[in-house]
Amino acid sequence: MKKNNFALVTLMLTLLFSSAYAQKNKQQTLDDLFLKNGEIYFSFQIFGRDEIPVLTKIISIDNVKGNEVYAYANRKEFNRFLDLGYTYTILPHPGTLLSESELNMGGNQRSPHSGTVWNFYPTYDQYVAYMQGFASDYPAICRLDTLGTTTQGRLLLAVKLSDSVNVTRGKPEFFYTSTMHGDETCGYILMLHLIDSLVSGYGSVPRITNLLNNYQIYINPLANPDGTYHGGNNTVNGAQRYNANGVDLNRNFPDPQAGSHPDGNVWQMETLGFIHYDSIHHFVMSANFHAGNEVVNYPWDTWVKLHADDTWFQFVSREYADTAHLNSPPGYMTDLNNGITNGYAWYQVEGGRQDYTTYFHYGREVTIELSYVKLLPASELIDYWNYNKRSFLNYTEECSYGINGQVTDTVTGNPIKAQVFITGHDIDNSWEFSNAYNGWYYRPIAEGTWALTFTRLGYYAKTIHEINVTNRNTTRLNVRMVPLNFGIPNQTQKTFAFVYPNPSNGNIQVLIPESGTGSFTFSVYDITGRLLQTGTMDGAGDKTVFPLDLTHYQKGIYLLKLDGGKTIYENKLIIH
Ligand SMILES: [Zn+2]
Repeated sequence: MKKNNFALVTLMLTLLFSSAYAQKNKQQTLDDLFLKNGEIYFSFQIFGRDEIPVLTKIISIDNVKGNEVYAYANRKEFNRFLDLGYTYTILPHPGTLLSESELNMGGNQRSPHSGTVWNFYPTYDQYVAYMQGFASDYPAICRLDTLGTTTQGRLLLAVKLSDSVNVTRGKPEFFYTSTMHGDETCGYILMLHLIDSLVSGYGSVPRITNLLNNYQIYINPLANPDGTYHGGNNTVNGAQRYNANGVDLNRNFPDPQAGSHPDGNVWQMETLGFIHYDSIHHFVMSANFHAGNEVVNYPWDTWVKLHADDTWFQFVSREYADTAHLNSPPGYMTDLNNGITNGYAWYQVEGGRQDYTTYFHYGREVTIELSYVKLLPASELIDYWNYNKRSFLNYTEECSYGINGQVTDTVTGNPIKAQVFITGHDIDNSWEFSNAYNGWYYRPIAEGTWALTFTRLGYYAKTIHEINVTNRNTTRLNVRMVPLNFGIPNQTQKTFAFVYPNPSNGNIQVLIPESGTGSFTFSVYDITGRLLQTGTMDGAGDKTVFPLDLTHYQKGIYLLKLDGGKTIYENKLIIH
């Protein structure tokens, strides 16, 4: 026994020693990796999906296949992950797997003109030259916008493509952005290729001519240049997922559920650039491109609830994937449900731009994963272009289908910014607004029969029933709204406050105007001007929608007044 005990102790000591030694070695390897890249790529097993909501707040999950999770982390994130005790495997970083010859840096054709063969990765300087070249070669249909600069001083660039490139007209705005994960490079080159084909095809290819005549298309090929050119301006070898501060930009946006800073980081310069760009436009639809999988991912990512337009999202995602299937070898874009998935059903993401844009800008954005291989060999870029180029156009065209039209004042004929609400359907900011300058609204929606309610402070709400929509067709619905002259003075009434539903049974939601911050005093008046109720609504931060229970009032017409100090907003309510 004693001898046995001695053997056991020796064995344990040996194990302890070698384990400590391995631990030390592992630590050294990790230190080296973080020193080199600032981030690591790794995989581990989970027991069940209920672990994902915890993990997604700590590390950047990239994929979940059954119980196998693939993720990225910076040093700080990884230390938090280690505390959880998972057994993990460090994987080769996807941004370091290709030789310089496979990247074909700089390519053979360096001129920023049409006819470029997009089978290479440009250097950073070439990228900028191409973007400038598109605009200077085609000034009538292409404008270059700078969204901002990055931590390391690189440019965030987008082109606007339209026949009315220097003005905003009553045409839907559409946005493609790619490679916010710097090592997911396929979409970067495919977007340059798309810009090239749109500017050079205008006037000769009818479908492209039609697109630029009837849409305002914005394309940002590279959302994270510091990540993509982590290895220096002359190569994409060493491209990393995170930006120069080690932050995953697709976890850095305000989130409908997790608040303004779901990742605990300040908004990065890139994030601020895109928040600003989203704010000065109204993108009816948009998509952001990634790699690592082949699938179209639609909202929501942050919660299990479905978007009001879930059927429509499935339709456009299916259309994208099916079109890609027709133009690619068997097996392309067949991940999850044959190439499409609800975001949350795949894995939860907080702080992603898809949900940010869809929720806070009343948009419709999907996340499209273009290729299994993140850093795709340059020789395959043309293949992936051919798989996706028709889908790019199909998806863009969808933003003028559904219901659209112009909202104007019946007396003056002036355009009106009104809320466009699908009665009995819209939830979670799925409604639209018409444009303040031209009155146009665009409401992509699934095939069916719908009722639309138009509301605007100072006007009678208007509901129009039995509007029929068929897929890939436009139902035009112009609306003229009647101003109301209510007995209460509205000398300081300026912009808008929206109430929905209206008419209602008294259970209403009040939407504070976008510019509204601080505290609002609300007052409810009856038709004779008698004050019935008063209280406060705190409009600070992101909280902009307040429920108000007026169900105890009799049927009739009431006035809701919001006093923000400088501005008073009024809205007429009908309780029935
Ligand atoms: Zn990605």
